[in-house]
Amino acid sequence: MASMVHGTTSDDSTAYRALPSLDRLLAAAPGLIEAHGRSETTQVLRAVLATARQRIGEGHAAPEPGGLLRDAETRLKARAAPRLKRVFNLTGTVLHTNLGRAVLPDEAIAAMVDAARSPCALEYDVDTGGRGDRDDVVNELLRELTGAEAATVVNNNAAAVFLLLNTLAQRKEVIVSRGELVEIGGAFRVPDIMKRAGARLVEVGCTNRTHPKDFDEAIGPRTGLLMKIHTSNYAVEGFTASVGQADMARIAHARGLPFVEDLGSGTLTDLERWGLPHEPTPREAIANGADLVSFSGDKLLGGPQAGILVGRKDLITKIKKNPLKRALRVGKITLAGLEAVLRLYRDPDTLAERLSTLRLLTRPRDAMLAQAERLHAPVASALAGWPLTVSIEPMLSQIGSGSLPVDRLPSAGLVFRPQGRKGSVLGKLEAALRGLPVPVIGRIADNALHLDLRCLPPDDEAAFLTQIQAGFTPC
Ligand SMILES: *Cc1c(COP(=O)(O)O)cnc(C)c1O
Repeated sequence: MASMVHGTTSDDSTAYRALPSLDRLLAAAPGLIEAHGRSETTQVLRAVLATARQRIGEGHAAPEPGGLLRDAETRLKARAAPRLKRVFNLTGTVLHTNLGRAVLPDEAIAAMVDAARSPCALEYDVDTGGRGDRDDVVNELLRELTGAEAATVVNNNAAAVFLLLNTLAQRKEVIVSRGELVEIGGAFRVPDIMKRAGARLVEVGCTNRTHPKDFDEAIGPRTGLLMKIHTSNYAVEGFTASVGQADMARIAHARGLPFVEDLGSGTLTDLERWGLPHEPTPREAIANGADLVSFSGDKLLGGPQAGILVGRKDLITKIKKNPLKRALRVGKITLAGLEAVLRLYRDPDTLAERLSTLRLLTRPRDAMLAQAERLHAPVASALAGWPLTVSIEPMLSQIGSGSLPVDRLPSAGLVFRPQGRKGSVLGKLEAALRGLPVPVIGRIADNALHLDLRCLPPDDEAAFLTQIQAGFTPC
């Protein structure tokens, strides 16, 4: 019947009459009602019947009731599945913004679950019974870990930068080096944020070189502050000069102006301890004279999405009085997670074990190589029949989220190369991996699909393998 172009009216009406009623279908679907609720099941069965009627109109036969119910079940399951799906991040980028950046340590997850489940002392001082301030949840820890006088937390670092500019530099000039006018992921561009915050950007120096006198000469009666921005996702190399934190602070302070820095990633500890490249810390910036520093909670810090501002108490107080702070503040779940993560930094000796992000970043290549050895044979046999070769290869991971753009971490993983010249098989493989119950996200480069195993914790290996073994159909 599918080949029929348009059925005659009498054929149509027979087919329409062969369709069961909604009530009959509902009566035949107690399992679906049990699992998805009567209202949801009714709505989906209605949609299934509408599709069937439409197909009959196009000349198809009436489907069997069993087929209608199976169709309904598929639709109900798809509707019930979360859109925010868990995935395996085998891209090689540890802090992948599109895949949710930092994964959180158990301590933070437990604290967030508690805060979600129960009332908590978010803005309540349990000692006095008086009103509290939500920033107090993390203020003490942030002071301790950065050496700053005060701290406040907002939704993300973009919000932190926006709020600081709007509070301290509205209708004033902000002097920034031309070498630091960064764009982060398309949506955060320093000149745009400046404009929206009501500040006027004054660029000084050249793309490759900026000198102290450039700042000095640009300061005028309308200057609000001097700003340094961490060039998170690029490096200017060659014949270069930039003005360091201490010099910026000295120049600003000599004219009675604040010096602020957007650090971007903001790790709270020196990563060189674990053999990782040095990334500037808020503590260094504060020690070098920065009056305010902003950084993200979910980049190298390894916590929930947040923007953190630390610095001079009078400036933080002013920022907290800006009505926009209320619009940009974080909720109790974020604060609970952030508090737990910050607490881990009190014990640097156990940090690399307990802070998930750092644990991933410090995995040695040998660990990923051993994993690749274990996975190679079963993955290759699951892909038997695909015109591909599977090999174990060294590769380089990235930290990601604008951290340390030129530094790469030695890693290893599985590489799939098309046999012959059929490059399209890579696209099919990539789609098949993406279609697994827990989608596996790799990286295509140099006509090969790379699965970097750095972010596959050994605990997840079995689950990863099971679904690859169960889920692959012959190419
Ligand atoms: C990442 C980054 C931002 C934006 O931070 P979000 O937390 O993503 O809002 C701003 N400035 C710099 C320098 C960054 O690296």
